[in-house]
Amino acid sequence: MAFQKPPGTQDILPAAAGKWQYVEEKARDLCRRFNYRELRTPIFEATELFQRGVGETTDIVEKEMYTFTDRGNRSITLRPEGTAGTMRAYVENKLYGEPDIAKLYYIGPMFRYERQQAGRYRQFHQFGIEALGSDSPALDAEVIALAYTFYQEVGIKGVRVEINSVGTPAIRAAFRDELLGFLRPKRELLCKDCQSRMDRNPLRVLDCKVDQHHFEGAPSILDSLDDACREHFEQVQRSLEGMSIPFSINPRLVRGLDYYTHTAFEFKAEGIGAIDTIGGGGRYNGLVEDIGGPNQPGVGLAIGLERTVMLMQEQEEELAKRQRLDVYMVALGEQAEQHASGVLYALRQAGLSAERDYQSRKMKAQLKSADRLQASFTAILGEDELAKGEIVLKTMATGEQQTVPLTELAAVVQQLREQTLEGEV
Ligand code: AMP
Repeated sequence: MAFQKPPGTQDILPAAAGKWQYVEEKARDLCRRFNYRELRTPIFEATELFQRGVGETTDIVEKEMYTFTDRGNRSITLRPEGTAGTMRAYVENKLYGEPDIAKLYYIGPMFRYERQQAGRYRQFHQFGIEALGSDSPALDAEVIALAYTFYQEVGIKGVRVEINSVGTPAIRAAFRDELLGFLRPKRELLCKDCQSRMDRNPLRVLDCKVDQHHFEGAPSILDSLDDACREHFEQVQRSLEGMSIPFSINPRLVRGLDYYTHTAFEFKAEGIGAIDTIGGGGRYNGLVEDIGGPNQPGVGLAIGLERTVMLMQEQEEELAKRQRLDVYMVALGEQAEQHASGVLYALRQAGLSAERDYQSRKMKAQLKSADRLQASFTAILGEDELAKGEIVLKTMATGEQQTVPLTELAAVVQQLREQTLEGEV
């Protein structure tokens, strides 16, 4: 019996990998421009880190973690998100001791045992950033701006930015009681999820997609904010306006995770079945302390890459160009075939992408491969040319052919390539 991938996982095949590379390169380039530096942490961590860092009452910790006992009898969990591991590394490596604030990013797989649906997987990938060591509202706005720019630059249309303030833990606790007062009489009308959330994490009830019509007149957390929280939220908005980032305020937005303080935000877009959230984050001023570190504020965000890749448009031409092969080498006859590897290697050493035939196929079949690989040039090595130390070079776009000394092949291809690149500008 042939094996199949586990439910909720994906093979990213070579035909799709170009898109992934494009997205990842965009993420890295944006981080360079915004001065965030990469942090690579383990894929698995002590289970307790997530219990403390993500929160005991969250869906993730309650029912979605891949947890196992290793051979040393430790409870280990495959990371369900990137923030807890980042905090752990920040504390363990004392990054808080440096004069500048820590601006970090990560890209990698996350694991949650979730119900599979379009845009929801059990192994998925996130690009996330975390800025630690400052409670400036300008930093909240910067994090939002980075994500907004990311979606713009990878070509996702119609992205909406929603922001909210969830205050401090004390404000949330008081608001929770007020909200429960409003929800209790409606309990029987609400969906099963909401009923269970009422017991565990009532703020998240307002997030429910199906019950919105029951929430008219619900108290708004924005009315519960104290002056300091209101001021922070105001300044985040002013900073966003200063960067011309469009946003709307959604007072019902609370995130799935417990640790947010002040700013919470989400990015939404249509086009993936029932799912519309493509990224989100917020400020988490108590989190570093919660996992045993010093009292350092932070703000961060995570972007789902599967959803990004699904929604990307209009990059086909750019992606095709990037995947084009420079030279396909056609070798005809036994002697030429023997020389082919050396010629090919010289091209590759010169920085060009080059391929040949390894199946001793006829010329026509080899030329078809060159077409499939969208080779910019075909180099044809026959016995006659070989005897003279030459090779025939064909520019595929124009059909022009020239005979070139073998020793100069790479240089000539480079030169022609630069000319055509200039021509495209
Ligand atoms: P969260 O850590 O839950 O706030 O998720 C941040 C982003 O990661 C979401 O907006 C999604 O884009 C993505 N994401 C979260 N869970 C999944 C999943 N199971 N499958 C695919 N993407 C996900």
